[in-house]
Amino acid sequence: MGCRSVDAEGDRAGVSKRPPETQQPETRLVTGGRRPEWTELPTGGGIVNPPVWRASTCLFDSVADLERACAAPDDGLFYGRRGTPTQWSLAEALTELEPGAAGTKLFPSGVAAIATALMAVLKPGDELLMVDSTYEPTRAFCRKVLAPLGIATRYYDPLIGGGIAGLIGDNTRAIFMESPGSLSFEVQDVPAICAAARARGLVTLLDNTWATPLYFPAIEKGVDLSILSCTKYVVGHSDAMLGSVTASPEYWEALKATTYAFGQCVSPDDAYLAGRGLRTLAVRLAQHDASAQRIAAWLADQPQVARVLHPAFPSCPGHDAWARDFKGASGLFAFTLQGGDRKAAAALIDGLKLFGIGFSWGGYESLALPVDPRSIRTATQWQAEGPTIRLHIGLENADDLIADLAAGLDRYTRALG
Ligand SMILES: *Cc1c(COP(=O)(O)O)cnc(C)c1O
Repeated sequence: MGCRSVDAEGDRAGVSKRPPETQQPETRLVTGGRRPEWTELPTGGGIVNPPVWRASTCLFDSVADLERACAAPDDGLFYGRRGTPTQWSLAEALTELEPGAAGTKLFPSGVAAIATALMAVLKPGDELLMVDSTYEPTRAFCRKVLAPLGIATRYYDPLIGGGIAGLIGDNTRAIFMESPGSLSFEVQDVPAICAAARARGLVTLLDNTWATPLYFPAIEKGVDLSILSCTKYVVGHSDAMLGSVTASPEYWEALKATTYAFGQCVSPDDAYLAGRGLRTLAVRLAQHDASAQRIAAWLADQPQVARVLHPAFPSCPGHDAWARDFKGASGLFAFTLQGGDRKAAAALIDGLKLFGIGFSWGGYESLALPVDPRSIRTATQWQAEGPTIRLHIGLENADDLIADLAAGLDRYTRALG
């Protein structure tokens, strides 16, 4: 087996005659990363999906071939850590979902993607502005890894918008956003923050796991590094861990170099599962969105519910930014109960028949989780009328889920009684 060259701008004949960005995202989800050289057989014909290529060693036909490969190790099979067509296919398909992006790197988890993206753009002496509503492990990375390296983190109000300009100091190098926050659901004014960053030459990073590029094409909105926990909606079936970072042209080389230096690579089996999940992302998200909005509207009408924290509802902080910038909502939101305590909230959750109790989300199945955003804030206060429950609305029938939740609210009322 030779080391066949795979040109990054390679011909996509048979998959798409037009540049991908002129096609609608649903089409790009289907065609992306299915290059003929990854699916066709030398003997003619081919298969639909780039197969699982498991590799550590890649073999060269001659010393001359080996030397050519060493001169351009990103251009074809080189060594397993640099991936095989299985990983390249997924990375290319993710890049094609982000108009304006230069490329995508894959990681063994969303947290690894976040950590590597931060390391790609920060150096000792720099300051990072981090949104106060961020995912807790992101906060832990700043505390446990960045701080000892001499990289300071300053937390800011998720709703600060263009006011972020007032926080930018001489050493500020990067602004990290997560929109909406995955516990408290504030939607950030990402374009305003990116504009302020650009005016001062700063790099912007966004944890885009909730919306995915389908509902928020981050690079197009001005973000430099768009991060996904693919574990959630891309894999979509709760059976693999994976992360990705998609970069603007300006930061693509830095991302590539840091990813390689940290030895980050992903298993072809997990990449295959994510690639398979990606093909149905649009139809799954549309169903998650429709059911979640129906259930959130129903919850908002229940006397036990104080507030629904769903970006598509005016009761959610940052709702206007969602309405302006997003093409949809996903299946994850929260609601706050009126009064009550943790025990009553547990009575609600424990008896649910269709909602699992567990971390993560984005799979086909529904989940319920008690959350307390107060516990992980430092720059802003978060207040609630009572316990908060986060729901992931899966692909079950929405009426069945509502019946399950109605029984749960009855248990809650009795537990208060
Ligand atoms: C789950 C999650 C992550 C981390 O992803 P893993 O794949 O679990 O490491 C990062 N950000 C958000 C918003 C998440 O929900």
